Amino acid sequence: MLVILKPGTPESVAAGVLSRLRMAGLAVHRTDHAGQVRIAAVGEPGAMDWAEVATWAAVESVSKLPRPFKLASRAFHPHDTVISVGSVAIGGPQLALMAGPCSVEGEAQVFTIAEAVAAAGATVLRGGAYKPRTSPYAFQGLGEEGLKLLRRAADAHGLAVVSEVMEPQLVSLLARYADILQIGARNMQNYALLREVGHIEKPVLLKRGLSSTIEEWLLSAEHVMAHGNRQVILCERGIRTFETYTRNTLDLTAVPVVKELSHLPVIVDPSHGTGIRDKVAPMARAAVAAGADGLLVEVHHDPERALSDGAQSLRTAQFAELVGQIRTIAEVVGRRV
Ligand code: PEP
Ligand code: MN
Repeated sequence: MLVILKPGTPESVAAGVLSRLRMAGLAVHRTDHAGQVRIAAVGEPGAMDWAEVATWAAVESVSKLPRPFKLASRAFHPHDTVISVGSVAIGGPQLALMAGPCSVEGEAQVFTIAEAVAAAGATVLRGGAYKPRTSPYAFQGLGEEGLKLLRRAADAHGLAVVSEVMEPQLVSLLARYADILQIGARNMQNYALLREVGHIEKPVLLKRGLSSTIEEWLLSAEHVMAHGNRQVILCERGIRTFETYTRNTLDLTAVPVVKELSHLPVIVDPSHGTGIRDKVAPMARAAVAAGADGLLVEVHHDPERALSDGAQSLRTAQFAELVGQIRTIAEVVGRRV
């Protein structure tokens, strides 16, 4: 249920309402909007007499939160969530440009790419150190050594770091090196992992699952948020369909749909979304036009020799050219690079 308190309710009275709801056994989450306290109270349907709650002096209204996801919903939290990572704000007027190699492969590689994407205008360096590979014989990532290189390369160029975590046991290690923890498509419904990142104080980039509906995706965000971490960035990265000419089908409709349903920032990954280098830029441009809050793009200085996802990685010059185009498109939709 959504309980909205009257404007100007003193803090002590609001605290009293929260504790009465908690005492009824409900999980209680608060947000403040336009001078009013809004409370999502979640629990057994019969836990509370809601008609009575509506008569409490401080209560302005009681209504049902219409969707299965509560904290992630715009009904609970009407204004856009903006997530700050150092000097980068994700979900605000400035687009978040996250770029870098699929995998961290070595010092020279990650420093070369970091320099190029920073010069082009990216603010976040991506790179996998623990890789979810379809084949157990494919390159699995450099592990902690890769995280150290990624961090050093990012620091050398004033970039933040996003990197994937695949196991609950590695969350604290990732949090030592990365500013944003990525949950990959294959792990979108790994609830033990979602719980673990729900307990940290760093933003989580939650990719849409390979065959997940938007509702399942938002419910995964809800898992993270229900455990206490409200800093979730959603990432559309394509879904599996019957189409075979692209690696995935990039569902750009998800951007306006999520924007209506949720207050969370949503970015687009046109690299995994298409799987084909020369299809990345058109879909990146379309994503920005559709209202995405940013992009996650794979970039490699020598993609022919990349240890993973070379075929979908932009060359460094192509990324710079794309950022130039994005600058123009951003202006049309009231954003900037
Ligand atoms: C990646 O970002 O390199 C990755 C493995 O992405 P996804 O989980 O979307 O496949
Ligand atoms: Mn990849």
